[in-house]
Amino acid sequence: DGHVRFENVRFGYDADRAILKGIDLDVPAGSTLAVVGPSGAGKSTLARLLFRFYDPTGGRITIDGQGIAQVTQQSLRAGIGIVPQDTVLFNDTIGYNIAYGRADATDAEVQAAARGAAIAGFIDQLPDGYATRVGERGLKLSGGEKQRVAIARTLLKDPPILILDEATSALDSRTEAEIQTTLQAIERGRTTIVIAHRLSTIVHADQIVVLDAGRVAERGTHAGLLAKG
Ligand code: ADP
Ligand code: ADP
Repeated sequence: DGHVRFENVRFGYDADRAILKGIDLDVPAGSTLAVVGPSGAGKSTLARLLFRFYDPTGGRITIDGQGIAQVTQQSLRAGIGIVPQDTVLFNDTIGYNIAYGRADATDAEVQAAARGAAIAGFIDQLPDGYATRVGERGLKLSGGEKQRVAIARTLLKDPPILILDEATSALDSRTEAEIQTTLQAIERGRTTIVIAHRLSTIVHADQIVVLDAGRVAERGTHAGLLAKG
């Protein structure tokens, strides 16, 4: 499960300015939708509505046919993982940051998630090894390392629905390529909405939507949209 639909969704942060002007999306369970378009088009706003940071002013968002306004915020959010562009971490251990929101997680689960997100790679280079570093406070992490922590948090949560909001846009191209490989592995089997900047990161998407000024300007596949120019 995890079939996401937006039906004629409208939204504005202020009553006098529409940001989303009637959005229709159909994302079958387990598939990947990429959303591209200029800055300010409303891409992040779409993601915020699915997570219910805000409610639409018109239209409906459903998951498996059920309106998301009809489920509790807690159960909705338990089923959705978000990897944002800039992950803000708590001033605590990597382990704490991975397990945030999953107080019941065991150390073994946290470490498995860290390995899945390839955090183990840079931790293992230290003499004390991974287990020590995961409990160390006040770590100075690079942007790529922070994104790996966010990925590990998502792996631990194991949500059927994944939102990647420009998750690698702020990284240098080599780190971006490394993290893209990890992300595409965790997308498998999950309904994924990828908000993207570079077309090279969404070649694998099942469908692509071009958002412009709050409307769907184009939809298609990567090859189809490239052919159109
Ligand atoms: P994108 O992700 O495509 O760059 P956003 O969804 O972030 O676009 O923003 C769409 C529009 O909504 C922009 O004009 C932005 O300034 C505005 N906006 C975003 N967040 C808020 C907010 N919290 N309050 C008011 N306006 C906002
Ligand atoms: P992005 O394009 O990455 O979504 P934005 O610049 O649209 O980034 O937004 C960055 C942050 O600032 C978001 O948390 C958004 O809610 C907030 N924001 C953006 N535009 C406005 C605005 N016009 N008024 C208030 N908050 C805004």
